[in-house]
Amino acid sequence: MDPALSQLFRQLPAVDELLRHPRLQSWVDRLPRPWAAAAVRRVLEEQRQSWRSCPPGDLPSQLDEAALFQALQLALDQAAQPAIRQVINATGVIIHTNLGRSLLAVEALEQILEVAAHYSTLEYDLVKGERGSRHDHLEGLLKELTGCEAALVVNNNAGAVLLALNTLAQDREVIISRGQLIEIGGSFRMPEIMAASGAIMREVGTTNKTHLRDYENAITSETAALLKVHPSNFRIMGFTSEVALPDLVALARRYSLLTLEDLGSGCLVDLSRYGLEREPTVQETLAAGADLVTFSGDKLLGGPQAGFALGSKEVVAGLRQNPLTRALRPDKLTLAGMEATLRLYLEEPLAMVAIPTLEMITRPLAEVERQARNLARTLKRRWGARIKVEIRPSEARVGGGSLPGAVLPSRALALEIPPLAPHELEARLRQTHPPVIARLEHGSLLLDLRTVQTDEHPALLAALGEVIDLGAPASREG
Ligand SMILES: *Cc1c(COP(=O)(O)O)cnc(C)c1O
Repeated sequence: MDPALSQLFRQLPAVDELLRHPRLQSWVDRLPRPWAAAAVRRVLEEQRQSWRSCPPGDLPSQLDEAALFQALQLALDQAAQPAIRQVINATGVIIHTNLGRSLLAVEALEQILEVAAHYSTLEYDLVKGERGSRHDHLEGLLKELTGCEAALVVNNNAGAVLLALNTLAQDREVIISRGQLIEIGGSFRMPEIMAASGAIMREVGTTNKTHLRDYENAITSETAALLKVHPSNFRIMGFTSEVALPDLVALARRYSLLTLEDLGSGCLVDLSRYGLEREPTVQETLAAGADLVTFSGDKLLGGPQAGFALGSKEVVAGLRQNPLTRALRPDKLTLAGMEATLRLYLEEPLAMVAIPTLEMITRPLAEVERQARNLARTLKRRWGARIKVEIRPSEARVGGGSLPGAVLPSRALALEIPPLAPHELEARLRQTHPPVIARLEHGSLLLDLRTVQTDEHPALLAALGEVIDLGAPASREG
């Protein structure tokens, strides 16, 4: 080994020594010994690795002890906490896929808790006293809410699309417009799902224009279905046209084909009534004659992660019999949370306030402004001259591939905590308890308050306090 390198390696303290080191004691004491040792070993290995990959000329002569202890404290602090844990979403993106998409309504949380803590009717028919099906629980509600004949709920919408294509079009052709060959986050690409399902994709039209005759010209004896996909996370502007669903349905019926629509978001309320852009609803898609509609449970619908396949009795019955349905089945917590969420939709005004996703989308700007003022006032009262805080107009987004063009007027706190530069502050905020995910915009650090819940304000203030006091990671209360 390079002598300079081995000289540095020898400066690294041993794991045992570090575990007993007074500078790490309060972190180490919070952890089971082997878990603390594993975290320490990881940091030491990262340090060795960074030296190994360092060009020889740039190797330091001395170990940076302060930096090493900072890294150790951070690693031990992380190891003490669950990997999946709460964060405060101050990005202004409501359905943030990386941050867990939809928050659940209290009603859904309560139902999940009940079903998780107790035995339940998951697959039990209380009337007959015999085995029931988990797939029956939500169907009645979905029929009532959407007018569908039958419904199946699976693990997520990618699963619903895969199941639908595999059941209805394996080894046969499915026609789709080139303008709808989407990729959405998390590696869901329509051509790849299509291939995985065993269906053969027939692309028609062009990126910006597809006509009814394009579909018709592509129909052969091998065609099983026409598929329409809601281009959820982008918009093609200008010289464009897609075929409307009713026209597609009429064409499909003439050739005895099925019409499938992947709606993506699964909107159950007409958002234009709340001053938002129109998003096609599940109800109107079914009313337009689609044989099957698929959509997510945790986007605009605002429930737990799930995928829905709603449509005709015959088509849904076919899906249920596919062995893939067993592989994609939703768990009892999902079903419990989803049922409670869907029940809220029976009274739309209730859904709009009780389902956090819908509440955040429709929260009046004046209310966001009021919360911004409250927080700014508290920040100034607590920390006065040590910070600079200003209320700025901001643009929040629905996210999650819903209403891609829609901008929701919002308010953000532009925060400065000297001497930290905005990007340093952003990084520090990711290490607080709970972490705060902020937005950097035009060189400012912004906390958009449309995505922060009022009951999170104390946690947000505590997190900011951790950074302002520039001390050790917070003492962890409650
Ligand atoms: C989000 C989305 C999916 C995937 O849904 P998941 O629930 O994330 O699996 C599929 N199709 C469209 C159009 C989408 O927007």
